Amino acid sequence: MDLAKTRVVIVGAGQAGGRAAEALRAAGHVGPITLIGEEAHLPYERPQLSKSILLDREPNPAFIRTQNDWAELDVTLSTSSRVVAADIDRREIGLANGRAFAFDQLLLATGTHPRRMPEVESGALPVSYLRCMDDALALRRALQPGKNVVLVGGGVIGLEVASAAVARGCNVVVLEKAATLLPQAGSPALSRFAQELHVAKGAKIMCGVSVKRATVGAIELEDGTLIPADMVLVGIGVEASVDLAHQLGLTTLHGIKVDTSGATAIDGVHAAGDVAEQWSRCHDRWMRLENWANAQNQAIATAKNMAGEATAYEAPPWFWSDQYDSNIQIVGHPGGGEEIVRGDVAGGRFTTLSIRDNEVVGGIAVNSARDMSVLRRLVASRKAVCRSDLENPNFELKRSLAS
Ligand code: NAP
Repeated sequence: MDLAKTRVVIVGAGQAGGRAAEALRAAGHVGPITLIGEEAHLPYERPQLSKSILLDREPNPAFIRTQNDWAELDVTLSTSSRVVAADIDRREIGLANGRAFAFDQLLLATGTHPRRMPEVESGALPVSYLRCMDDALALRRALQPGKNVVLVGGGVIGLEVASAAVARGCNVVVLEKAATLLPQAGSPALSRFAQELHVAKGAKIMCGVSVKRATVGAIELEDGTLIPADMVLVGIGVEASVDLAHQLGLTTLHGIKVDTSGATAIDGVHAAGDVAEQWSRCHDRWMRLENWANAQNQAIATAKNMAGEATAYEAPPWFWSDQYDSNIQIVGHPGGGEEIVRGDVAGGRFTTLSIRDNEVVGGIAVNSARDMSVLRRLVASRKAVCRSDLENPNFELKRSLAS
């Protein structure tokens, strides 16, 4: 089969799906490409949902391309289209409205959906989740000055929304069940920094707490404490959207397993972005990565393979978070080894490196973007490093890149 001429259907018109469609054309794919998304919006950048959409004077969504640009690329874009069926024998997917699309190659870029918290969905308080543009626009309208906003989950959503809500004049409380903020980063230095930053800006942070239920005007914790609340935003993680994968006959644990080319166990079926699970050297295990850079770059690499251009994708995970005026960047697995901290955590400018077997397997740069460019190269290169050099505050980090 001439891969470049095949009929490609991409399910999921987010960052991964959108970038994959572009990359297929860039790699010389001449066959029909259909990009199907459930939302009414054109494919857009997701990081803005917990940042500029909430913060800017006017919401100004950034789209990946205009409608005309999609047409010029000869990509058939089907928005407001929910795919509910997938049949591998017929090589066909079906929409909720009964329409069907045949494919030779299928890319599942179905992403994730928020983990829900039924115990607060009693109706006593408005409860929201943040995953899509409409969620962000509704949240923006709700964040009014003087509102008591409770954020359940002290991860990236909870903390980015906390900074936006504080900036919009709300009274903010963050409830995290782990002992520290950002527990998944696995960095004591980062958790300490985040705690101090949010408290200094006026948010109340409560870690090690369990939410029992929502009552009228409050969230009740398991120990009986009542936290005044006009609204609740739940950001306690996400789950992969794998229903279609199951219909195709793929089995999943955390996500859809793919090899370094993005191929699943079924010939002609690929997966990319938040829904795909790939082997991670930094984490030493199969991982489903939930970040912008992975959604974009893994999808581009997968698209190249679908167009017949053999490419392996093995980049270490990298993402950033903006909270108040601080920029936090994380690469690899900061909790994967022993942590070295360089710089001034209390002063809000520092870098961490996680060392395992003389390799840097992860790191964090807080307000230190230049260090992050070195960290990314160190993690990707797997170079042997000298721990005592890195512990020396006078040693220039970039010298560790020299062979
Ligand atoms: P997250 O980063 O995984 O954080 C969820 C947090 O909620 C964790 O700290 C978790 O603690 C905690 N938690 C879990 N169950 C809880 C409970 N019952 N009560 C209180 N806390 C609880 O997930 P998220 O913040 O919901 O973000 C969702 C997705 O959006 C992720 O894919 C994320 O990468 C993406 N996103 C990314 C960015 C960015 O890259 N800057 C920004 C926003 C969103 P444990 O770990 O101990 O369970």
